[in-house]
Amino acid sequence: MTDAGPLLVAEDLRKHFPAKTGALFAGHDTVRAVDGVSFTIERGRTLALVGESGCGKSTVSRLVLRLIEPTDGRVMFDGRDLTKLSAEALRKARQDFQMVFQDPYASLSPRERVSDIIAEPLRVHNAVDGRRAQRDRVVELLERVGLSAWHGDRFPHQFSGGQRQRIGIARAIALNPKLVVADEPVSALDVSVQSQVINLLSDLQVEYGIAYLFVAHDLAVVKHIADTVAVMYLGRIVEIAEKRALFARPHHPYTQALLSAVPNPDPDARRSQIVLAGDVPSPTRVPSGCRFHTRCPIAQEICRRVDPAPQTVADDHAVACHFAKPHPIPADRPAGADRA
Ligand code: SF4
Repeated sequence: MTDAGPLLVAEDLRKHFPAKTGALFAGHDTVRAVDGVSFTIERGRTLALVGESGCGKSTVSRLVLRLIEPTDGRVMFDGRDLTKLSAEALRKARQDFQMVFQDPYASLSPRERVSDIIAEPLRVHNAVDGRRAQRDRVVELLERVGLSAWHGDRFPHQFSGGQRQRIGIARAIALNPKLVVADEPVSALDVSVQSQVINLLSDLQVEYGIAYLFVAHDLAVVKHIADTVAVMYLGRIVEIAEKRALFARPHHPYTQALLSAVPNPDPDARRSQIVLAGDVPSPTRVPSGCRFHTRCPIAQEICRRVDPAPQTVADDHAVACHFAKPHPIPADRPAGADRA
């Protein structure tokens, strides 16, 4: 709609829903899957949303596309509040934001030829005039993602995982979207193929100015594609910063732990890996105070009582921790040692 200002602004997004418990207790528990998440994505830039399984990052990606309705908060996309659009206005707006899914095996219809799969958004939005123009556009897209025109006659099961993800990307960019939400797009792929797909996404970003919301559970995966990294824990962003600042000076103990798990050829760096105690708590039983205190290696008494508000520690760098510091946690300090 407008080329001024950020492309997407998520404001205090929340998604709560009743827990699936036994009939006796139904309705007593609430899953706080997303619990107050805010961020901005600039045009042609990439925000990576990173966290362990169950932290709410995939739910955020669906809220942003309004594939599910938020409990609270809003999503401003290109100057418009997506959460207030009618069904018809939302259908039209969807030309500008598309999704690449985690599982390239499940996200493509096995009974459709690849050319029909890629042409689907073109048909739905009447984006091209006539069958010939549609065929030409499909060939153009196939070639742009590193496949060939003749691949269009084949079915998804005849391709490797990396090739299927290329097909999913071709479908996602068919309408020249302004935003692509990529939900763990490489986590089902071999490491060697992961970098090829990430390089393809980077090239497409340069060529077409696409912005990405890139969801991943691994900081190593986002190192090359992210401009900004937001680290999520139990429904909240606990640290957000420009990528170089986050990798060089992580302030939150959770970010430090995730970074320490990134494979590093330096043996000294390997020795300093921080292993967190326990699992992520259930989003139906969010801990009091700082929700990370049950696993935090440097937790103090205040952490159990007071929820830390995000504080700005440098330009475009915010951290939700009472004791945010830019230094890594000492390697010989056992996780949970100072727990309140
Ligand atoms: Fe750890 Fe306390 Fe900071 Fe939470 S507020 S991350 S428990 S030090």
